[in-house]
Amino acid sequence: MSVSGKTAVITGSNSGIGLGIAREFAKAGANVVLNSFTDRDEDHALAAEIAAETGVTATYIQADMSKGDQCRALVERAGTCDILINNAGIQHVAPIDQFPVDKWDAIIAINMNSAFHTTAAALPMMREGGWGRVINIASAHGLTASPYKAAYIAAKHGVVGMTKTVALETAEEPITANAVCPGYVLTPLVEAQIPDTMKEYNMSREDVIRNVMLARQPSKEFATVEQLGGTCVFLASDAAAQITGTTISVDGGWTAL
Ligand code: NAD
Repeated sequence: MSVSGKTAVITGSNSGIGLGIAREFAKAGANVVLNSFTDRDEDHALAAEIAAETGVTATYIQADMSKGDQCRALVERAGTCDILINNAGIQHVAPIDQFPVDKWDAIIAINMNSAFHTTAAALPMMREGGWGRVINIASAHGLTASPYKAAYIAAKHGVVGMTKTVALETAEEPITANAVCPGYVLTPLVEAQIPDTMKEYNMSREDVIRNVMLARQPSKEFATVEQLGGTCVFLASDAAAQITGTTISVDGGWTAL
């Protein structure tokens, strides 16, 4: 069974990795449901553009992944959810004794709790359809740590743990649950940090990328949103039917160090 004709719901998919994943699923023939917390014309236009380019059904549903009821409502409004991709995420960097409580709460809610709520809403639909894939976008920071990112690292480790439990609870069903762990990916968010970092360290763009951003990524290359999308499409394929409860790193060797 291929992903063609299946419906993929991707949280946080009006930019970056989520949008890249949506595009790869649409190219593979899956219908896609895009999401973010905004409700702008350009959000809906993105879905229309994907539909026009690929011929699949693509819709955009506004829902705030920091709110449990809205996470569940996203899946319910999608109507069908064969493939659930929990991708929405934010970051904040501060030492733990100065970490703003509201930032901690938001990161735990958006990066971890949302996956609990969407998975809880999606599993009954997958069971009814007799097939399902849960794919959680964690991070190299779901497997390793860095200073000043306590909330992000707690949330991403939590997502990796929850993925294993979902896999065990669905192990005898045609449903799998896995986490994808990207290293640094060149998204608009990361691109926007380059000029400031160049100024801060008085470095060239090339030096910032190689020696600051990719200091822990042995390949010295960013992963791309297309590679992340392709990895997710693979996890949804028949070839991956026995891959469950594990992580796939797309990190240029980060976790081999
Ligand atoms: P991004 O900022 O481009 O994308 C984040 C997405 O989440 C956006 O679509 C945003 O609108 C959405 N979002 C934020 N808050 C939301 C909310 N409350 N409700 C619904 N949607 C919300 O960043 P990205 O780099 O594409 O990150 C996507 C995922 O990949 C995140 O979970 C991130 O932690 C993870 N990741 C990114 C990298 C990287 O280097 N870019 C590395 C490892 C993991």
